[in-house]
Amino acid sequence: MSIDLASVAILGALQASFLAVLLLVATRSYAGVAQASLRIRGWASLLEAAGWWLLGMRGMLGDWWAIGLANGLVIVSYAMTVRAMRMLLGAPSRQRIIVVVSLTCWLVILWYAMVQPDYLARVLWASIVVALDVALLIRPLARCLRAKGSIAERIMLGVLLMSASLLAWRIVDLLFGRAPPGNILDRTFVNTVYMMLTSMQPTFTSIGFLLMYNEAMQADLKRVARIDPLTGVANRLALAELARGVFDRAARGDEPFAVLMLDADHFKRINDRFGHDGGDKVLLTLVDSIRACLGRKEVIGRVGGEEFVVLSPQTTLKAAQELAERIRVAVEHAQLWIEGEVQSLTVSIGVTLSRAQDSDFETVLRRADQALYAAKRAGRNRVMSSPTEPPGQ
Ligand code: GH3
Ligand code: MG
Ligand code: MG
Repeated sequence: MSIDLASVAILGALQASFLAVLLLVATRSYAGVAQASLRIRGWASLLEAAGWWLLGMRGMLGDWWAIGLANGLVIVSYAMTVRAMRMLLGAPSRQRIIVVVSLTCWLVILWYAMVQPDYLARVLWASIVVALDVALLIRPLARCLRAKGSIAERIMLGVLLMSASLLAWRIVDLLFGRAPPGNILDRTFVNTVYMMLTSMQPTFTSIGFLLMYNEAMQADLKRVARIDPLTGVANRLALAELARGVFDRAARGDEPFAVLMLDADHFKRINDRFGHDGGDKVLLTLVDSIRACLGRKEVIGRVGGEEFVVLSPQTTLKAAQELAERIRVAVEHAQLWIEGEVQSLTVSIGVTLSRAQDSDFETVLRRADQALYAAKRAGRNRVMSSPTEPPGQ
């Protein structure tokens, strides 16, 4: 088999160029951190392509271009890829260490290209950059995998381990091989395998990156779709999902859970007096007061304009009533400053405990709602509970 390694480098350059354009065009349809990371990876791919082009034209170009600049471009593109991936993985950028190590290694590589040509020394110094880049990605990726990582993260980890092993193999061949190559385009077995796999690396990396990017976007959408935009607490959808888990555990024999349904009293008056924006600020204070009363196992969700549900797993009716009373008093005593005046706000709360006969969460919720309306009818600013057992039992 006779493979011309300069042509392999040109193929790598073509792939990286097309992928760069693809990534940069895709950037236009997205927003947020994911967009910034995709853009960085797009430019990195462009620099990688330029590096491959220069390498492929070795012989036609001087060593400064084909070794010096080509190595520099690839080193920068790797650094940018590390930055983009750490952004996606939510890890700190570690920019300073990447810049210092990359620049130092590149200057030394330049020295061993132009002043005192030494191929082995160049490969060893390049391996320091690759080792750092791999190290900076392996930890966050391994952490994601421990937390049931995705296919994309597995692909990326595989690509990283492949590039690190290929480089290690090259070094071993250079140090101990019977006929070590004089440069990267010498057609030895190790160089051929290395160049073929490495020239495909932009494709593997970009596919893995796009998949990871897609997952990050989906996770972001999922998170946003479950948060109430005004108060930042769980919305109806998130609460229903949490409630399903709590209900199932209670149905399997766990201790019962309690539902507290809260509704602000005479809230229309606040809106009428201070407008919708003033009302919104009051809602934020209300949520703060409720949250301050909750323990770690309790969850609050917004189920209507000024209606909230508190879910309290593994509890008793007495404990839930005490919690509701603490919330009621906290809201009553909260200082609500609107337009320079202290306003008072109260809440009515309906409390219920789950029962073995409850067929679903909605049944429990309806009972809490009935208790809430009993509290409203009884004069507001109070806690009412439904009996623990249905009538007639
Ligand atoms: P009640 O004591 O019977 O509950 O009296 P209420 O005035 O609070 O009556 P109700 O609960 O039926 O009305 C709630 C009001 O809350 C109606 C609506 O104008 C207001 N509201 C609903 N969502 C929002 C919101 O997001 N922001 C603000 N500022 N007001 C809201
Ligand atoms: Mg109300
Ligand atoms: Mg209401």
